[in-house]
This record gives sequence, C-alpha cells and structure tokens, in this order.
Amino acid sequence: MNHFNATISFVVSCEHGGNHIPSVYRHLFQGCESVLKSHRGYDCGALLMAKALSKHLNAPLFSATTSRLLVDLNRSIGHPQLFSEFTRNLPPAAKHEILTMYYQPYRNRVEAAIANAIQCGNQVIHLSSHSFTPQLDGVVRMADIGLLYDPSKTMEKLLCWKWQQSLKEALPQLAIRRNYPYTGTADGFTRYLRRRFSMDQYAGIELEINQNYFCDNRAKWRKLCDVIVETCAGLFYYKD
Ligand SMILES: [Zn+2]
Repeated sequence: MNHFNATISFVVSCEHGGNHIPSVYRHLFQGCESVLKSHRGYDCGALLMAKALSKHLNAPLFSATTSRLLVDLNRSIGHPQLFSEFTRNLPPAAKHEILTMYYQPYRNRVEAAIANAIQCGNQVIHLSSHSFTPQLDGVVRMADIGLLYDPSKTMEKLLCWKWQQSLKEALPQLAIRRNYPYTGTADGFTRYLRRRFSMDQYAGIELEINQNYFCDNRAKWRKLCDVIVETCAGLFYYKD
C-alpha cells in the first residue's frame, strides 16, 4: 500500500489565478481590457493546474483571482513591479488600501497555513502554480515546463531534480527545465517565505507552464496536468 509521508504537508497556491478588477478600480483600466485578457493580466491555466495539484495531493489551495495588474501578489512590498503602470501612480492612501484589501489577506492566509503545519511538526512543501507566455519581448521561451527553486536549499534542489527526471521520462518530447524562464531566487512569494521559515521546515517551488498548453488545446492541457500531478505525487510516495 502506498502512503504519503505523514510528516509532509503540502500547500498549493496560485497568485495569478484571474484577471478580475474590483469595480472601484475599473476606471483605471478603461480601454485596456485587452491587456487584462493577456498574459500580463493573469496566468492562463495556472488556477486549473493548482486545483488539480490540490485535489491530488489533498492539500489546501490558496488562490487569488484579482488581476496582478491591480497588485502583484508574487512581488514583495517595495518591489518596483508590485504595482503596475495602471496603479503605480495612485496616491499612497489608495495603494495602502489595495494592499490592505487584496494583498495582505492573501499573503497572510498562506503564511499562517504554512506556520500552522510547521507547528504541528510537519515539513511543508509549497507549490506555487504559474504559467508563462511562449514569447516575451520577441524572445521565444525554450521550455514547456519550468521548476523554480533556490539551489542553496537542499530539499528544493533535490525535489526539483527528481521531479525533472520523472517529467522527462513521462514526457520525453517536452523541454523541462529548472530555474527557467526565471530563477527561483528572484523576488516572489516563495523567496519571501524562505526567509520566514528554515529550509528544514519549508520548501517553496514555483511551477511554470508554457501557456501554449493551456490556451491552444484543452485535451492536451488535461493530459499534461495529469502527468504533472502524478509525477509530483510520485516523489512523495513510500511503500510498505
Ligand atoms: Zn505567475
């Protein structure tokens, strides 16, 4: 019989799950609806992936469907891209309001769930689901799946290496890369959380999927989704 290791607690999150703009801020985006629908507005398909991971791993899911163009939940306070060009020049009080309403509650909920699992004696594996545009500023991205982590954290490094091997075996035709198209140590929610918890308590991995798979073909996406959740779960099974 297979079991998950009882001391491991999964947390799944999706910071860029939707492109909703609350009505009070909608005027800021007037005439720019196409940007909201683009990869800049949200991570197409990332929420579906997060739901699949959460279900299969029996993990709590934290997701946000407010557009990253209002405030980016995957950027730290003070980062130049925390606010987009649509919200950057708002008065400080308005920006504070956005942080209080849409940023802090989400970040605090995820952080509290992780702290709680650690307090119960578990080791937390946090999977943050994202997707990336196939082409950015004229450059074609040379990957289908990216696993982002901090190479100085032993558990993250080992997990991503093993996951990459399993994915390569299951999907030999796809390009599966580590720390691509971004580095796992760039500013993001996982980097923030790594500083809050020790590497024995917390491992944060960002899963990045090429949006080709979500936007072009739903059947292709479902297949990819299945393989991703199965290979991920397979890393943590033990047999007795
Ligand atoms: Zn994202």
